[in-house]
Amino acid sequence: MYLLTYSAEGLKFLDFLITAGLIYGGDDYIVWGNDGTYATAFGRIHLDRSILGPSGASPIKQFDALIGAAGGLIHEAVESFFALNDGLVFPASQHMDYVAQWFAGLVRRQLADAFKDNGVFFRDIPGADSYGQSFADWAASLDGQLYSGQDRDQGDLTNPFAQLIGFALADPIYPNDMGLTTNMLTAPNLGGCDACISPAVA
Ligand SMILES: [Zn+2]
Repeated sequence: MYLLTYSAEGLKFLDFLITAGLIYGGDDYIVWGNDGTYATAFGRIHLDRSILGPSGASPIKQFDALIGAAGGLIHEAVESFFALNDGLVFPASQHMDYVAQWFAGLVRRQLADAFKDNGVFFRDIPGADSYGQSFADWAASLDGQLYSGQDRDQGDLTNPFAQLIGFALADPIYPNDMGLTTNMLTAPNLGGCDACISPAVA
């Protein structure tokens, strides 16, 4: 989380994460384990220890892994935000992961840029996120294929029964300098970096 202070977009997420941590108790809100990295239906974040990279790696490689892990945290923060703020409790859809990978990619790029003069060699693996890509292009990419087993669109947004549950659970009190909107979850393209502030939701 500390690393997020070096990314303009990461700072916005930090505001959200700290607020959610205050409400749920930090130790309950973000949990470390060995069972994968995911956000629960009720917005809690589980982080797998493996995202920090192998122990014993060189300091520079560990820092590289930390930048990757910061992106992982951002991915889950997007899903957590929609669960807590908008009551979207269905398992993530491809479109949810498109949005999550978009912000993860943006923050990783900003961190890589912030530390580029310090010998940190973090490089975005082409196609490791969705930043700058349309939904369709990402879905067809290697990264998008990782999520191809999921529904395309978020069931909460289309299923009236799920909407009722979501409405009951939604608590729209969370800081949202990130500008996350449910419109993003159906947007064909989140656009470029200018969209960080007011995303194009054509
Ligand atoms: Zn996800």
